[in-house]
Amino acid sequence: MDIHTNIPIKNLTTMKIGGNARFMTEIHTPEEIETVYKNAKKQSLPIFVIGGGSNVIAKDEGYSGIIVRIRIPGFEVIADDLNSTTIRIGAGENWDSVVKRTVDMGLSGIESMSGIPGTAGAGPVQNMGAYGQEIADTLQSLSVFDSQTGIFILLTNDDCKFSYRNSIFRDSAKGRYVIASIVLKLSKNQPQPPFYEALQKYFDEHNIKLFTQKVVRDAVLDLRNIKLPDPTNLPNSGSFFKNAIVEAWQTADLKKIDPNIPLYDMGDGKFKVPTGWLIENVGLKGQLLHGIRIYDKNALVLVNESAASYADLAKARDEIVRQVISKFHIQIEQEPLEI
Ligand SMILES: Cc1cc2nc3c(=O)[nH]c(=O)nc-3n(C[C@H](O)[C@H](O)[C@H](O)COP(=O)(O)OP(=O)(O)OC[C@H]3O[C@@H](n4cnc5c(N)ncnc54)[C@H](O)[C@@H]3O)c2cc1C
Repeated sequence: MDIHTNIPIKNLTTMKIGGNARFMTEIHTPEEIETVYKNAKKQSLPIFVIGGGSNVIAKDEGYSGIIVRIRIPGFEVIADDLNSTTIRIGAGENWDSVVKRTVDMGLSGIESMSGIPGTAGAGPVQNMGAYGQEIADTLQSLSVFDSQTGIFILLTNDDCKFSYRNSIFRDSAKGRYVIASIVLKLSKNQPQPPFYEALQKYFDEHNIKLFTQKVVRDAVLDLRNIKLPDPTNLPNSGSFFKNAIVEAWQTADLKKIDPNIPLYDMGDGKFKVPTGWLIENVGLKGQLLHGIRIYDKNALVLVNESAASYADLAKARDEIVRQVISKFHIQIEQEPLEI
């Protein structure tokens, strides 16, 4: 295992911002996780785990510990019956390659999450989701290294306490577990309507009536190409803010502020408000703030056009948050975690 020193973290993230990491190493087997944690403990070095860096923002002061980049491979069918196939996937596998492989196998359950950058192992961290599917729907279990006890354990779906873009890995157990592999149970049935609103609209517009996993994947990739900037050309972290969740009692006031505000009933007394709509309706879509462009095709995405530092990004973010609070009295929340 090679240990690299003084590595610019911006080269490890898709936002391309931030200072240097004192150390960085890449891990290709679960056993290497144990080794790196043992050695880091001896030297009292903190550890930050990273996959593709598409949901991580690095600060300007850098990181004084060791960044551990997960590269563990693996794609193995571990159970198969009439209706489903269960697959164990190494945490370092590229997520979209995994989706493509399962779609080619005629399996359903993750096809709507086509095109999401990053690794399979990071998926459960924020309960990755898109177009009506989230990883919690198909995740059976995970093999994780518990940095508190120093042993590998199996976590079940219930253990992860998944909710909208959240899990224990971002919350109560933040930084505790390193995910080595995930197990997904996928269906052999064809995808069935009703589909997520934007996907159904796409099918209607293209007169698509026969739904296979590949049809859904191709539609999602097409939709994403239109709405999301490619981080290899335009550095970004996808949705920079989570969608806002408001209580039922707030909806009347919100409608008074703007009768057209979209409110999606989540069925639990709470309503989802698309944060992109809020940002657009304070007039910030397409604007450039401190070198950060609020993407003109999707105001939820912040593109690093010419920001010199994390400080610039923070100034742009705080300005957006302030304007949304000022008009709608809603506190919007950043999605990518910070190192
Ligand atoms: C253009 C674009 C579009 C996107 N679209 C979506 C979308 O539609 N839906 C969505 O949910 N997200 C989306 N994202 C965000 C991101 O791609 C996902 O959250 C993805 O799952 C992150 O994977 P990653 O490997 O890059 O994780 P990283 O950014 O490397 O890490 C994210 C978090 O997970 C932790 N982590 C990573 N790997 C492990 C591991 N093996 N064990 C423990 N912790 C780990 C890190 O410490 C960090 O806290 C998008 C991002 C971009 C740039």
